[in-house]
Amino acid sequence: MKIEDIGKQSNRMVNISPEDLMPLPYPYNKPDDEPPFKELTGEQKDRYDTSLDGFLAIGIPKPTTKEEEDALVKKFLSGLEKLLSKENNWTFLQPLFHSLEYCVKCQICNDSCPAYIASGKKEIYRPTYRPEVLRRIIEKYIKKKGKFLSFITGSDIELNWTLLSRLAELAYRCTLCRKCAQVCPLGVDNGLISREIRKLFSQELGIAPRELHELGTIQQLKTGSSTGITPKALSNLISFMEDEIEEIAGKRIKIPVDKKGAEILLLHNAGEFIAWPENTEAFAIIFDAAGIDWTLSSEVMGYDAVNYGVWYDDIQLARIAIRHAEVAKSLKVKKINVGECGHAHKAMIVIADRVLTGDLNIPRESALPLLEEIVCNGKLRLDPARNDFPVTLHDPCNMVRLMGIMEPQRNILRKICPQFREMEPHGVDNYCCGGGSGFAIMQSMNFPDWRSAVSGRMKLKQILETFQDVISPDDKKYVCAPCSNCKGQIRELFNYYDVNGKCGIFYGGLVELIVNAMTDIEKPFIEWAWH
Ligand code: SF4
Ligand code: SF4
Repeated sequence: MKIEDIGKQSNRMVNISPEDLMPLPYPYNKPDDEPPFKELTGEQKDRYDTSLDGFLAIGIPKPTTKEEEDALVKKFLSGLEKLLSKENNWTFLQPLFHSLEYCVKCQICNDSCPAYIASGKKEIYRPTYRPEVLRRIIEKYIKKKGKFLSFITGSDIELNWTLLSRLAELAYRCTLCRKCAQVCPLGVDNGLISREIRKLFSQELGIAPRELHELGTIQQLKTGSSTGITPKALSNLISFMEDEIEEIAGKRIKIPVDKKGAEILLLHNAGEFIAWPENTEAFAIIFDAAGIDWTLSSEVMGYDAVNYGVWYDDIQLARIAIRHAEVAKSLKVKKINVGECGHAHKAMIVIADRVLTGDLNIPRESALPLLEEIVCNGKLRLDPARNDFPVTLHDPCNMVRLMGIMEPQRNILRKICPQFREMEPHGVDNYCCGGGSGFAIMQSMNFPDWRSAVSGRMKLKQILETFQDVISPDDKKYVCAPCSNCKGQIRELFNYYDVNGKCGIFYGGLVELIVNAMTDIEKPFIEWAWH
């Protein structure tokens, strides 16, 4: 498979079959037991170009005329020029330029990529494949290197609709985990290049996965949350959570909302309120017991830390980041504290620095060091014997590799979980859950199968290896994943392979384990109910 093949007509660039996939440990060590991939319907095949790998993350309708095709190519090229200009890409031009210019093609990064390895080393998923396609387009169509030079630079690539549709899909076969960037001796960030390709398609051609854009960002800007939770619905959810806390803790805890001048505005990924309310309840129980001065916000978008723009579009990223800061400013809180959500850590604490200036540049922190301080400085009465079952920790890429928050969550687990064990590799060397960069919420056509069988495969392998000595479904085990998106991916991955049924492995957040160990709470907090 050559780089220029991406622009050449063919039935399919790669086929993925179960026997090619990276082997998994017991009880998934027979390729014949691999769940079959969902077949696309005839209508889907007719409507969309499936010639990359047979999977569709975006599903871009095929153009119906040559003029339409040419117009899309033209738009792509003008967008590419903008991507390479300081005025239009002041946010990321510098790292993009570095990553495009300094790769020496040593290929050291390849063996760090979970998607590439898990796929059975399919060439198109190699971390350097996408960037090289982009470089060649730039060489030929922007720098306009001639035929003779193309022999040396390899710029002989045909920019056409086939290439564009495959490249757009291919940008969504990388989870932006940046494990490849970590091992690159020159600091080249191939994940960033994937993200910039996504940005070009979104900002210039209006092409982005529906779950990230229409159902994500746009819904969030309109209703207040990508989940569709409105301020009124939030108020009902809070009453519900207070009732649940009362039932478990034996006392009513008032969840503070819109408390002016509080020390902390706590921002959760709003998915927690619906899918895992126990996580938000656990935060309330811990903060109450530790005497933390905190509040939630009921302002539109003030209760949802989600910012999907970080994965595909700078304009959407900025709109949401600014709104988050405005909410905190109006409440006059001292700082924003981000709950268990990895991409919100990246968007709000790291990347938002590029758009928040002046009095909107409010201090923003991760909840993990605060939780460590609470647990390790004796602010709660804890009995680790309540967590006496095997526990391992999944490291969300954005908290650990991007931000270096590695020890707080471990110090907590070492204190409250007597059977805590690391998966390998872990910490900054971790593997992505396979649901990073939006994959966990993308349900388009047959894409969920790719997400489980390929991008999530390395994480499943790690988890199974960690628990091999207690793999029987009768032994309860817990994967601690302090991130909403990682939890969403682990839930889907486990459902796909029936990991809970076959191996008795549950998943959940960090705060749930803390509350489960609190002696002030009479009933066990973790219910081991699969959801
Ligand atoms: S990105 Fe870095 S590690 Fe990968 S091929 Fe280029 S220089 Fe080598
Ligand atoms: S960012 Fe992660 S998924 Fe993407 S190419 Fe690099 S290692 Fe692979």
